[in-house]
Amino acid sequence: MFKKTSFIIAFLFILLANFTVVAQENYIKWVTFQDIVKSLENQPPMNVGFDIDDTVLFSSPGYYYGKQNYSPEDTSYLLKEEFWDEMNNGLDRFSIPKECARKLIVLHKKRGDTIYFITGRTKTKTETLTGLLAKTFDLENPNKVIFTSSKAKIAPIKENNIKIFYGDSDGDIKAAQANGIRAIRIIRAKNSTHKPLPKHGSLGEEVLVNSDY
Ligand SMILES: [Mg+2]
Repeated sequence: MFKKTSFIIAFLFILLANFTVVAQENYIKWVTFQDIVKSLENQPPMNVGFDIDDTVLFSSPGYYYGKQNYSPEDTSYLLKEEFWDEMNNGLDRFSIPKECARKLIVLHKKRGDTIYFITGRTKTKTETLTGLLAKTFDLENPNKVIFTSSKAKIAPIKENNIKIFYGDSDGDIKAAQANGIRAIRIIRAKNSTHKPLPKHGSLGEEVLVNSDY
């Protein structure tokens, strides 16, 4: 009798947990690429911003290498100048461009929008990232990548009069929201080395469908 009751209770719990997950998923403001295209029809050219890691590039290979090489036991490689020098000057040759970003950049180029890249990476004396992004996404006269060295992106979004910001991290979404501009979440790939994975949609922002690759 006791066994049967606990079984029923467990069953009800599982059912309830599933409903909660479904309810949360339903609450997310999903947008498709076409929805974004449509929302921009008849809008004059504007400045748009993109985060880099896990938004336009799947750059985990460089970070994975950095950890193995500089601090296999912990994440202190992220505090080392040598790592950032390597990361910003060539390790992105192992980064895979995200398809969703490619489509978005084509869209914004066609519209005549000005594109900015704002990354939380640590600033280094030299960088080859701007050139790599220009080559990868076919950008003429690209704006230099803005490095915020882990500081919030609120100021550069404001200074460059950015109207839409795309990013995978909560910090990206919050920085856009702090400026009162449109924030669109790009989903971080599940195999990214950047863990824990953020909960997309959790800040009430729009989330681009199939943006994990
Ligand atoms: Mg990112």
